[in-house]
Amino acid sequence: MKITAIEAIVCHARMRNWVFVKVHTDQPGLFGWGEATLEWHTRSIVGAIEDLSELLIGEDPTRVEHLWQMMFRQHFWHGTGIVRSTAIAGIDLALWDIVGKVHGVPCHKLWGGAVRDSIRLYCHLGGGDMESFYQTPVDNAKQFAELAKAAVEDGFTAFKSMAVPPTMPVEGLKAVNAAEACVAAMRDAVGDEIDIMVDCHARPSPAMGMQFAKALDPHGLYFFEEPCWPENLSSLAAINAAVTTPIATGERLTHLAAFRDLFAIRGCEICQLDLTHCGGFTEARRIAALADAHRIALAPHNPQGPVSTAASIEFGFSQPSYIICESVHNDVPWRDDIVEEGFVVDPATRTVTPNTKPGLGISINEDEVRKHPFQQELPQRVFYRDGAVGDW
Ligand SMILES: [Mg+2]
Repeated sequence: MKITAIEAIVCHARMRNWVFVKVHTDQPGLFGWGEATLEWHTRSIVGAIEDLSELLIGEDPTRVEHLWQMMFRQHFWHGTGIVRSTAIAGIDLALWDIVGKVHGVPCHKLWGGAVRDSIRLYCHLGGGDMESFYQTPVDNAKQFAELAKAAVEDGFTAFKSMAVPPTMPVEGLKAVNAAEACVAAMRDAVGDEIDIMVDCHARPSPAMGMQFAKALDPHGLYFFEEPCWPENLSSLAAINAAVTTPIATGERLTHLAAFRDLFAIRGCEICQLDLTHCGGFTEARRIAALADAHRIALAPHNPQGPVSTAASIEFGFSQPSYIICESVHNDVPWRDDIVEEGFVVDPATRTVTPNTKPGLGISINEDEVRKHPFQQELPQRVFYRDGAVGDW
């Protein structure tokens, strides 16, 4: 069996261009789907997939580890940069989809079978509609509370909010008080049985991240995400040690060695590896094994398209330390027209039961995809009140 072509298929989904990867083989009807979505880098990703395909065409698609080694190590430049690692991931997921189809089993069965009966999903406030999640002002605690109630009415038992505003490297009490008011309002609105998460998007400096973490600690967050830049490993470790709230991070890390350094310094309790950015299933399985050795939980980053979700779910059914999966369902109204999934979501509880179809269990409707060609992603830029650049 040989790989005959690798296609990158772009589908504009408002905030992101989903980049689907289709690996074709010389066997009639046998192909695999992956996803390599990287917002604001769509053209680079499409180019990187084209570069990588030069290495793989003519090779046996079922030698996934061997092909992964080629993609990561050839030629000379390792695949650690975000563009290359995302492109590798997209292809790797598609190769595993092919292997599942060859053997007639879902991917999770290739790795030892389901380790749980269901997976819990969490949503963003607004369900993935960009304005609700990213643009609800942090001085509007009431709106946070209303969106929180809506998430629970939608069946979710856990949701994530952006209740920490962009701040300059050092600021006074106003921002910290505003964040605390939002979290208190959400807790009031939904009670103690619902899990609330706050994503800082690595906006704060280590000093401000520490202040936010300590202020929000009494509110019992399920996790507190990216309280400072992922490059600040010792600061992540200091914040993680200073509060009882579990710190979550990892969505911007692209390879095993980066996770090794994060885990070794105990920079988090929850590893948010992204199947579409950290080298696909092949590298993610190594990262998960390393996380297990540190008793660090897994909760994948997954705000992208439907192949990313299918991959995150397949992975979760194979990983004992996996606790919850990020999901968006409200980013574009035609999401369900694009994909048919092999797993089932119970809308009353927002839990997922395992996929029973081979590979990732998905089919993508390419006619529907063609209705949404590439468009430049909407800008999401932050400038502080003095005009200096901040983090989104
Ligand atoms: Mg995040």
